[in-house]
Amino acid sequence: SNPELEDESLWVNSKIQDVKTIVGVTIPEMIRANIRGWENAVAFECAESGRKYTHRQVLEQSRGFAAAMIQSGYKRGDVIGVVLHNIPEYCAILYGIWEAGLVASPVNPAYTAAEITRQLESSGAQGVVTLPDYLEACRAAKTANPKIKSIVIVGEPHEGCHSYYEMVKADTTGVDFAKGSQMDTLNDTILLPYSSGTTGLPKGVMLTHSNLTTNLLQSTHPTYIKANAFEGQNEQERLLGLLPFFHSYGLACILNVNMLKGSHTLTLPRFEVNSFVRAIRQQRPTIMHMVTPLINFMVNSADFTSKEFEATETVIGGAAPIGPSLINQLLEKANKHMLFQEGYGMTELSPVSHFSPLWTNNQKVGSCGCPVPSTSTKIVDVISGKTLPRFERGEICVRGPQVMKGYFNNEEATRNTIDVDGWCHTGDIGYYDNDDCLWIVDRLKELIKVKGFQVAPSELEDLLRGHEKVEDVAVIGVPDAEWGELPRAYIVKKDGQNLVEDELNHFLKDQVTSYKQLRGGIEFVKAIPKAPTGKILRRELLTAYKEMRGLQ
Ligand code: AMP
Repeated sequence: SNPELEDESLWVNSKIQDVKTIVGVTIPEMIRANIRGWENAVAFECAESGRKYTHRQVLEQSRGFAAAMIQSGYKRGDVIGVVLHNIPEYCAILYGIWEAGLVASPVNPAYTAAEITRQLESSGAQGVVTLPDYLEACRAAKTANPKIKSIVIVGEPHEGCHSYYEMVKADTTGVDFAKGSQMDTLNDTILLPYSSGTTGLPKGVMLTHSNLTTNLLQSTHPTYIKANAFEGQNEQERLLGLLPFFHSYGLACILNVNMLKGSHTLTLPRFEVNSFVRAIRQQRPTIMHMVTPLINFMVNSADFTSKEFEATETVIGGAAPIGPSLINQLLEKANKHMLFQEGYGMTELSPVSHFSPLWTNNQKVGSCGCPVPSTSTKIVDVISGKTLPRFERGEICVRGPQVMKGYFNNEEATRNTIDVDGWCHTGDIGYYDNDDCLWIVDRLKELIKVKGFQVAPSELEDLLRGHEKVEDVAVIGVPDAEWGELPRAYIVKKDGQNLVEDELNHFLKDQVTSYKQLRGGIEFVKAIPKAPTGKILRRELLTAYKEMRGLQ
């Protein structure tokens, strides 16, 4: 690092007692060792079918699945694509993959066949676990990727697929399950979710057992979660498993926390108004994990009254900006003392780096809290790289045991994200107040977040550039009250070509999933503003867009 730019006294390090990096223990081992009075309590239950499993059953099923995967010939380190919506078996499937020493690459099941194929190809997947709903897409991906040996189906047996429900019955005696003591838990990748990071196409994020186990303890520290809140003596905590488990927020903050704390998660396959309202009334969640559009919905829907929040003690938000006014509306509607906590992080941070401590007690709504234990952070000037003092805005940098190992097969992107001193450059802009609370104010990176989902402008630009009438293109995210942000394209037509919006929308329709569609509109322009290096000047486009509409 450059001593002229660095000032260690300005770093904001966690004030909470350190959590030691956990080495030599896998996630399933950690959960197994911690199971206490809740063995026979329900862990996951499906809101649609009522299918449910106790904590013990989840751990037994994972062993059966692991044994069957090993018997089918999968070898340590093989990657398995997990193309599932939220089902009560999701956890057993992930833990089974890990107990077999394999790597899980969670895929958004709402992806088109082309998107699923791309991720499975990029991750080098050798197997897939899916549901009948996505079998056709997975078969197409398998045809395109000869490396994929087999498809496991969770549901009725299908031609040419292994049946999950048969596999879990496998005999586990004498099976050589993956042991943390024999692994390099600091370096062996076990989870490979996809994220575009600060720039470019979606990339595999290499996370290890140590990343996940340690981050689980960092984010559930008593500073953030009431002592014994989940632990058997009291009523079992009830959560809602609506946020997708394929994304780091759902996976780490709901699924793993549910297992560590002995709570009960009601899984919902997708958001749909009636089933959401019904699920809330049935589950009476004590903790609700939310993203902005859901909070928005609850605030504005007549189906939600203070009664729906009767049992709720905590609402947790994250994954995209929320804003204090919406949070305050929610708290007013709930009409009771309910704690709102916000988390900040990213897939690359396993995913939590900041969380609102209990002491904030709704006095800091809009802030995403303080650095979690064993985490150092700093705010740096985006131009000079100089470390900045409190209240000055700059790029948030994070260092701690939760920082990913790197991007899969992409050393350059890794180097551009994690510097030589181990700081992860988040691409987000924020500042600290005097209480170590972080306030996010902007996003420097090109990533677009639609309802909390990642949309990489590069991915859409690459596809649009492939259209025969497109000469050049830039995609940016524009603000939207309902969706958070929406992708908007600027298109330079090829000479003399007649091209209209519909043609491009139609072109993208089957290539990318619904939330990546250009709902922010398409504008035909003469040229794309670029820096001399060829880099698209996205800021310019966004500023012009906002000025035209009188937005701030
Ligand atoms: P992902 O890897 O999909 O979790 O996306 C991470 C990105 O989501 C971050 O870099 C931020 O841009 C955004 N994000 C996550 N949490 C928050 C938050 N509490 N407030 C604002 N943006 C957030």
